[in-house]
Amino acid sequence: MSQPKQAESPNMPDENNETVDMKDIVALCKRRGFVFPASDIYGGINGFWDYGPLGVELKNNLRDLWWKQMVTTPPIGPDGEPLQIVGLDSSIIQNPKAWEASGHVGGFSDPMVDCKETKKRYRADHLIVLIPNDGDGAWLALHEDAEATEIDKRIKKIGKGSKENYKIETLVSLDTKDYEKIIAPDTKEKGTLTEPKEFNLMFDTHVGATASEDNKAYLRPETAQGIFLNFKNVVDSSRVRMPFGIAQIGKAFRNEVTPRNFIFRSREFEQMEMEWFCHPDEVKKWHDFWFEERMKFWESIGLAGSNLIKRDHDKDELSHYAKEGLGTADIEYRFPFTAPGFGELEGVAHRCDFDLKAHAEASGQKLDYLDPARDNERYVPHVIEPAAGLTRGVLALICEAYTPDPNRPSGVYLNFHPSVAPKKAAILPLTAKEEHVPLATKLYMELREDFPVDLDIKQNIGKRYARQDEIGTPFCFTIDNDTIEDQTVTVRHRNTMKQERIVMDNVAEYMRKEMALMEK
Ligand code: ATP
Repeated sequence: MSQPKQAESPNMPDENNETVDMKDIVALCKRRGFVFPASDIYGGINGFWDYGPLGVELKNNLRDLWWKQMVTTPPIGPDGEPLQIVGLDSSIIQNPKAWEASGHVGGFSDPMVDCKETKKRYRADHLIVLIPNDGDGAWLALHEDAEATEIDKRIKKIGKGSKENYKIETLVSLDTKDYEKIIAPDTKEKGTLTEPKEFNLMFDTHVGATASEDNKAYLRPETAQGIFLNFKNVVDSSRVRMPFGIAQIGKAFRNEVTPRNFIFRSREFEQMEMEWFCHPDEVKKWHDFWFEERMKFWESIGLAGSNLIKRDHDKDELSHYAKEGLGTADIEYRFPFTAPGFGELEGVAHRCDFDLKAHAEASGQKLDYLDPARDNERYVPHVIEPAAGLTRGVLALICEAYTPDPNRPSGVYLNFHPSVAPKKAAILPLTAKEEHVPLATKLYMELREDFPVDLDIKQNIGKRYARQDEIGTPFCFTIDNDTIEDQTVTVRHRNTMKQERIVMDNVAEYMRKEMALMEK
């Protein structure tokens, strides 16, 4: 649940993402069919995105890998036994009483401020204010992830001197009496910001033919509640025994005050959440366990290195359900727009017994557990929740893969880990002539049974290589005149552009071997 948090985590040495410009990533995503603005032909709609032919493949790959780690082959637990986790696909719209009990109707809100002059609205906890050291002159408000150049430009335009003449505070730490000295981010006038107001992030709708308070319902702002609502159904209908997990992937909706940074913060997005139910005495063990497992997961699909860090939430930013327990540890990624700082990718929270207790009380149903393994002790389980953004994960994978390279015609390639690459190989006849195309088609028909592969026939070979580089295809196999003579093909490696000749019959085996090497 949204809570005020620090603008950035402590700086780490720069790896790569500081020099990458988000504008280039967004442009590539559109050019090659990963992500489009929703309703593009009508000028878009702020905070909504469509996933194109390659974006949906990338998203499905990430979704399937998560489902495999959680549900199909869950990890081996600390005692050497495979864990029990089952899946769920609950409804986006639930009885509105569920959202009252969960605390979302009353408390799922962010503080916002309005600019009276421009009518723009900002997340109060996402604004910073530059205050002149000498106490003289205007205070300048900016978004927390404003780049250094943006800050310099603003000081030059309406401030004085340089950054050294200012100290930086968060807006929420200031007294509202001082708001009259502040110039809002998109204006030149002082004192136009209103006091912060809480703004509920849930989208509402009406179920049935009339629209009144009586039939108001909400689009879920998180997938987690559907799991708590089905706790009893799952325990009664399946053979799970404590400790166990219920996992769900699906859409969530939040009417974010300021959707920003491409698909990082959108109003419709997808989550991958697993609620791990356990005895209250065991929460520390499972919190540590799940944090490690989730870190390993992201590393195993290519987010290794110092772009990924752990950050423990401060006490004052904990969600209502986590206040009592171990808190939340985030897995954060260094996105180009947060660099050199980090942005949240996943949170591993100790939700205590907050949700089950709240739903038990509000529904009048028993949501506790009779544990035969503990002398029939009856207790309300505690919950450890690894909650990740699927669409935010897609953005991290794209940012990590984006590799500028002036030595190739495309100027850039996507260095996807093979497990997530939308296409694993492209089959390219050197020419569209009759001798090359049938052989290429034959190879394509064989490979497509085992791998997602592209058959691309037209255009000069350089342009076709450039396209595959930009969509992150690990291998290109080219069919030429020699193939007719000796049944060999040229394989071109995406990252090194190295080329070698291999026997056409061995292509599938070659791919398996090479991808296994790349996955190490
Ligand atoms: P934030 O503080 O950034 O608003 P949060 O802490 O409220 O996020 P959670 O409620 O813990 O987020 O949601 C779990 C995950 O869902 C987040 O780690 C993130 O990956 C993803 N997520 C949350 N809000 C959004 C959003 N508006 N757009 C895309 N992904 C999101």
